Amino acid sequence: MNVQSCARCGFGVYPAEKINCIDQTWHKACFHCEVCKMMLTVNNFVSHQKKPYCHAHNPKTNTFTSIYETPVNINVKKQSESVSEVRCSRRERGVHKNLLWGAFGPQA
Ligand SMILES: [Zn+2]
Ligand SMILES: [Zn+2]
Repeated sequence: MNVQSCARCGFGVYPAEKINCIDQTWHKACFHCEVCKMMLTVNNFVSHQKKPYCHAHNPKTNTFTSIYETPVNINVKKQSESVSEVRCSRRERGVHKNLLWGAFGPQA
């Protein structure tokens, strides 16, 4: 018998559980993503430095090791639109002249 050794665990790999990938031999169970340990198949793995990765952890895309916390430029526009002062039109003083509120009238 020509039993090859698993590239990951080093134990012999029998044909029934063998995966040939990346020029190496793997147990099916050992052929999993380096990062999340998700089991891979020859159809959905990504090889990098002779190690398998899932697509989500593909080192070539560097989406998991270099998680730059992108400074989200939160431009909180503090446009205080309180500029429009509620002006009590003093022309109404004449209207309220009978209410005895003084000369300034009812200022809200
Ligand atoms: Zn193995
Ligand atoms: Zn993964």
